[in-house]
Amino acid sequence: MEQTLVIIKPSAIERGLIGEIISRFQRKGLNIAGLKMMQLDEKILREHYAHLVDRPFFPWILESMMATPVIVACIKGTDAVSIVRMMTGATNGRKAEPGTIRGDFSVSSQENIIHASDSVENAIIEINRFFKPEEIFDYTSVAIKFIYAPDEH
Ligand code: ADP
Repeated sequence: MEQTLVIIKPSAIERGLIGEIISRFQRKGLNIAGLKMMQLDEKILREHYAHLVDRPFFPWILESMMATPVIVACIKGTDAVSIVRMMTGATNGRKAEPGTIRGDFSVSSQENIIHASDSVENAIIEINRFFKPEEIFDYTSVAIKFIYAPDEH
């Protein structure tokens, strides 16, 4: 099964949305394989947002992402990367579809509630960036046969 990385950003922490966001992934049928709070620093953000360091708004991203601790989550399931991206919605909260996390809770390109890995390859890199191997748990929900057909997991 695929694993993907979600960061619940300071915009969600400050607005009391931690439970709402985790609940959405659980209600969908995805599993939480890792979950912790951490304070991000400039080093890890320069690595994580390497594709944006030359953009004029990068200092704002740094300030925004370090404003409070964040929650990092490793979410697991069949096709978890694409499912979580779909549930996240477009980068700009003003353009994100209603029903998505950004569409429901954000009106901003910057303060857009969560990060979600954009490909299977990046998900592996990002999970390794934010979690130690022993912080990721491999367990199977007893409800699995009520979530998937036998050939889906
Ligand atoms: P995504 O998070 O949807 O994968 P990007 O990788 O393009 O999108 O951008 C990473 C993050 O940088 C965004 O989630 C957002 O917080 C911030 N960002 C992107 N574009 C802008 C912008 N024009 N102004 C301010 N912040 C931005």
